[in-house]
Amino acid sequence: MFSTQFNQLDIADLSLTLYSSTAKDVEKALLNPTGNLKSLMALLSPAAVPYIETMAQMSAQLTRQRFGSNLGLYLPLYLSNLCANECDYCGFTMSNKIKRKTLNEAEILAEIKVIKSRGFDSILLVSGEHETKVGIEYFSKMLPLIKQHFNYLALEVQPLTTVGYQTLVSQGLDAVMVYQETYQPMTYAKHHTRGKKQDFNYRLNTPDRAAQAGVEKVGLGVLLGLDDWRLDALLMGHHLAYLEQKYWQTRYSISLPRLRPCTGGIQPKVLMTDLGLVQLICAFRLLNHQLDISLSTRETPELRENLLPLGITNLSAGSSTQPGGYVEPNSQLDQFEISDERSVETMVEVMKKQGFNPVFKDWQGEWTAHSC
Ligand code: SF4
Repeated sequence: MFSTQFNQLDIADLSLTLYSSTAKDVEKALLNPTGNLKSLMALLSPAAVPYIETMAQMSAQLTRQRFGSNLGLYLPLYLSNLCANECDYCGFTMSNKIKRKTLNEAEILAEIKVIKSRGFDSILLVSGEHETKVGIEYFSKMLPLIKQHFNYLALEVQPLTTVGYQTLVSQGLDAVMVYQETYQPMTYAKHHTRGKKQDFNYRLNTPDRAAQAGVEKVGLGVLLGLDDWRLDALLMGHHLAYLEQKYWQTRYSISLPRLRPCTGGIQPKVLMTDLGLVQLICAFRLLNHQLDISLSTRETPELRENLLPLGITNLSAGSSTQPGGYVEPNSQLDQFEISDERSVETMVEVMKKQGFNPVFKDWQGEWTAHSC
């Protein structure tokens, strides 16, 4: 499990080396960035800032070589905002006095009707983390129903057991997103003060369990702003490298959400600039040419448009971050505020104008079956 390897890392030393990187280290890294964690470190460092333009050109070229002009579109479907954890950056946190809601079958079908009418064939199921009321029993009941309507089904809920993931894979689950939020244990403890999410190592080992259960794609992520993003990103790079080596049949994605305002939420400890986000995206593309990189509606329309060519492979559009929000919008139930509120039709226009081909699904399931 990754926690064993992670606990052997000297984080203070990594931070020191990261911040001691020089222009010479960056130039060396640009000559040999692929699969090289030392290069990733240099490319994430402040010393790489003057090289961002070069990184962006390389990243854009590599992304087009691997993914062509395709950009995937997906929508999150929020199943529930119940949560038994206390995370001080999230609108769903247990102590927040907001109206709680868990969708039943009829409500899910109503949401699906709206989502399908917008053309989506790839969906991300999201919920707060509430094991008793929105646990494996609930997911097992709802997944077969939802899978009938979507070719690709991803899950962003609480960490599950290997057996739990196996059950859901047999019901059509394709991908699991599980974000560590921060790889810095002290910061993690500070922001997660109640509930099962307090267990740093259990969360850290979730991608292992998902991959062992046969999940086709596993997504990693950090919440940018909780702590030093350069160090968090480097540690995520270590996690990715470990997973790719151990579970080479699995595909991987990363998400790079920046901390956004929410009901009762906190201010970022470390502000990440737009340029910093560009550096981060490009550094990961240079590290890994196959990696899916997601862009959320947390970013502004202008920035999203500028980021499209640089390394992104999929994005959401026209998203709602509340259960039942496609049928009946109600901002009181939101997990966080969205910056880009443009409709999917507008996003499709924007993408086409830049020469991209909007794709509404991930892989066709049958292709995987035939190639086995
Ligand atoms: S981040 Fe997740 S676990 Fe934490 S309060 Fe929000 S929904 Fe619950």
